[in-house]
Amino acid sequence: MQEMIDSVTRFVAGEIAPHAAAVDRSGQFPEGLVPRLGEQGLLGLAAPAAFGGVEADLATFGACVEAVGRACASTAWLLLAHTMSVRALLIAGSDETRQRLLPDLVAGRRLGCAMAATEAGGGSNPLGIRTRARRDGKDWVLDGGKEFISLSGMADVYVLMARTGEPPPALGCFIVEKGDAGVSFGRREELLGVHGVPVGGIALSGCRLESSRLLGDEAGGLMVMGAAGAHGLVGAASAALGIASAALDDAGAHVKERVVAGAALASQPGVQAALGDMRIELAAARGMLVQAIRDIAGHKGPPLSLFAAKLTATETAVRIVDRCMALFGAAGYSRELPAERRMRDVRAFTIHWANNEVLRDTIRKASVA
Ligand SMILES: Cc1cc2nc3c(=O)[nH]c(=O)nc-3n(C[C@H](O)[C@H](O)[C@H](O)COP(=O)(O)OP(=O)(O)OC[C@H]3O[C@@H](n4cnc5c(N)ncnc54)[C@H](O)[C@@H]3O)c2cc1C
Repeated sequence: MQEMIDSVTRFVAGEIAPHAAAVDRSGQFPEGLVPRLGEQGLLGLAAPAAFGGVEADLATFGACVEAVGRACASTAWLLLAHTMSVRALLIAGSDETRQRLLPDLVAGRRLGCAMAATEAGGGSNPLGIRTRARRDGKDWVLDGGKEFISLSGMADVYVLMARTGEPPPALGCFIVEKGDAGVSFGRREELLGVHGVPVGGIALSGCRLESSRLLGDEAGGLMVMGAAGAHGLVGAASAALGIASAALDDAGAHVKERVVAGAALASQPGVQAALGDMRIELAAARGMLVQAIRDIAGHKGPPLSLFAAKLTATETAVRIVDRCMALFGAAGYSRELPAERRMRDVRAFTIHWANNEVLRDTIRKASVA
């Protein structure tokens, strides 16, 4: 799969990196980039060849997302939401549903988003989901609303979680399509970073769906979320490592050129120590991710080591990006350089693709179980 990674790296240099700053400023995802991502295989990394996909293993998926994340966090974010929707369809979609949706999603003719789970009542606890799916004859009818959903209004296909029964709360995953009657999209949130992707609400009012729109079992939503979530966790960790390594490379080059008090910054022991420590932290976070990907084999859902790797990679990246920005002095705080954009973008990866505090809490509980 090294060929795929090399091809993605070239594509990123030619067609993603040159537009990253403009995407951040305008908040517009480049016209025509989604089909180009499809042509490059990036939208089918997790899909089998039968649907036009690349069948990349998780390590290759991570390396491709990292290459994209180095240049443009928004594009990496889009890839994660899309890939999780592809995974959810593969894991729980019927043959008919897969045949109908996957070829278009993989080719970039349509864009997917998963999961649409968060609601006004909270995103960190799926059991609090209030959006209701009730049976009506052979159909399901959905009412409720989602908030802070990536690609809201931009994606064509949403994997959306709704309450199918209670008590105890049963959650199911449904395929909701942009043109479905009873679906509308709320205002776009104004966010600190990842400006290239719209994030906003989805309202469901008497949204009638054929039974084939239920993915898997009506109480199997958390299973689908967990199984598809491995790509979200690996992808978020990889994107963050990409952002951090780009920051570190830029800072390393800058300190060699920047002369302060008659000497290059790079000659200062304090600067050398900072850069050295960051390289060590980055390597350690990367090592955790490599190990966690190995651990996935034999697990039904993501192993705890992947939770630990995601939170470590994203938090390490936040620290590195912050310290690298400082090495640029005032220029690092200016919008002329990518340092401040990285700072704004990288933080989002600690909040979503599984909230870091929730991951930490899960590991804490498991460690005394
Ligand atoms: C840019 C962006 C894009 C997003 N895209 C999507 C999307 O596509 N789909 C989607 O469903 N959601 C999405 N989200 C929402 C995200 O998943 C939620 O913000 C996140 O799950 C936290 O939920 P909340 O914001 O409702 O915070 P709350 O649930 O109110 O929690 C607030 C904070 O409390 C802390 N906390 C919560 N639970 C625990 C615990 N058990 N132990 C310790 N601390 C805890 C955490 O620090 C948490 O951030 C997105 C968010 C952002 C910022």
